[in-house]
Amino acid sequence: MKDRLIIAIDGPAGSGKSTVARQVARRMGILYVDTGAMYRAITLKALRSHTSLRDEKALSELVAETNIDLKIDGDFGLSVYLDGEDVTEEIRRQYVTNNVKHLACLPAVRERMVVLQRHASRSGRAVLEGRDIGTVVFPDADFKVFLDASEEERVNRRYKELRLKGYDVNRDEIKRDVDSRDTSDKTREVAPLKKAVDAVYIDTTGLTIEEVTDKIIKGLESLKR
Ligand code: C5P
Repeated sequence: MKDRLIIAIDGPAGSGKSTVARQVARRMGILYVDTGAMYRAITLKALRSHTSLRDEKALSELVAETNIDLKIDGDFGLSVYLDGEDVTEEIRRQYVTNNVKHLACLPAVRERMVVLQRHASRSGRAVLEGRDIGTVVFPDADFKVFLDASEEERVNRRYKELRLKGYDVNRDEIKRDVDSRDTSDKTREVAPLKKAVDAVYIDTTGLTIEEVTDKIIKGLESLKR
């Protein structure tokens, strides 16, 4: 097996994690693991099964019997399977986004997600992106990055991305969503969003995807020296 290479990319909503992580994975020829997609998938299952989002016991049971698979298809596109069903499109809908925070703060849910995320990265060569990769999932990652950007830029990016996909959204709505997710991600007791002490901080405001990707690849090259 080639040498282990686990790259952890964390940051708030709209910081560019997904696109950058995908590019880094492509350029390094390694796996891409979108951990937010996993939290979205379990949220979808809870909503569909009408499990109360406040019933921690019922949600713990639900997550214990859930399987989530990520499959790379085509040009580093990612398909998400919930108990064998392709939910790639559905998990991006606003009703799912709005409810992830209820599950993301539960220890039992997070423990199971960490198991699934480590399993998804078992080849030992992967880029994982999320909120707690460098702090909890892979505290011993080979390279850690914390991506950030001004709130205005993050809201704009989300707005453009959703409009491009054909969703009828407005900026105020997106700003409220980004604010509320940032607050709950940063303030929850279990695995809050924060920069790992040994992560490289990159402010992506005004930078292109290529510029951010190049910075990370440069950092990776310095590992080899
Ligand atoms: O990355 P994405 O925006 O798809 O993540 C959706 C939500 O999942 C986040 O707002 C966060 O609440 C949760 N999440 C998390 N830990 C991760 C990845 C995502 O709590 N590692």
